[in-house]
Amino acid sequence: MTDSTTPKNKLQGKVAIITGGASGIGEATARHFTTHGARAIVIADVQDEKGQNVATSIGPNICTYVHCDVSDEEQVKTLVCSTVNTYGQLDIMFSNVGMARAIHTCEQTVLDIDLSAYDKLMAVNARGMVACVKHAAKAMVEGRVRGSIICTASMAASIGTDRFVDYAMSKHAVLGLVRSASLQVGSYGIRVNCVSPGAVGTPLLKDMFGFENDEEVDKVLESSSNLKGGVLMPKNVADAVMFLASEDSQFVTGHNLVVDAGFKS
Ligand code: NAD
Repeated sequence: MTDSTTPKNKLQGKVAIITGGASGIGEATARHFTTHGARAIVIADVQDEKGQNVATSIGPNICTYVHCDVSDEEQVKTLVCSTVNTYGQLDIMFSNVGMARAIHTCEQTVLDIDLSAYDKLMAVNARGMVACVKHAAKAMVEGRVRGSIICTASMAASIGTDRFVDYAMSKHAVLGLVRSASLQVGSYGIRVNCVSPGAVGTPLLKDMFGFENDEEVDKVLESSSNLKGGVLMPKNVADAVMFLASEDSQFVTGHNLVVDAGFKS
């Protein structure tokens, strides 16, 4: 969606929060937003050293890191309030955090699902997502900002998975959130959309499938893609997020933008 000839000022003056910005899709999006002229980017994560390093490498004048566990509503509220207090407004919330699994010992099929692990995963992937949308939308309404909220769902939001029922359920919940929230805040000019990646080469993918190294990840990416050369990198998803964040999508809301290179399920 963007190339070297695209004007790089689509987010001029905008203030954005990116959750899960210390790694993968969130990090790539933070870098993308920077090249498109965002005024301030706050990346929120629980990996403090990694997050701090990303913020420093993007540039301390534009990007700051804040510790925030999205499963804790008070921390999300503080994240949003401190962003508005510091920069005067919030224009973009990229609510991107997700975890693949809460325990690492087994897969989660309906026959053997560990319900305490399910609770932990839902606390982050579903509860954390609604907390971010809630507080971002409130800040936009109060600040009279016609903002853009983007959530990260997954292709697992639209299909079943043979191995992770809890993850699939949490991502289906993201779709319900986006479709409902878009109706509830549309009259304020606030758009709510989600992006649904296929398999993307990030630590989460390694964690999900128990991969030890990048070669194993590459094999899956190559075999799962229907597009020649269509291996998904975090920046490919960041391109789609950029579209939803910018005025290019000013009449798009309640939408699930699938970016899966024609995933063969
Ligand atoms: P990633 O592991 O690179 O990044 C996820 C980030 O979220 C990490 O930095 C992690 O520290 C952070 N995080 C985890 N729990 C948190 C919490 N409670 N509070 C705050 N931060 C927390 O993974 P990614 O692939 O970039 O994942 C980003 C999103 O993309 C997730 O929602 C994931 O479900 C979704 N997704 C990923 C893939 C894929 O193949 N990688 C496919 C579809 C959807």
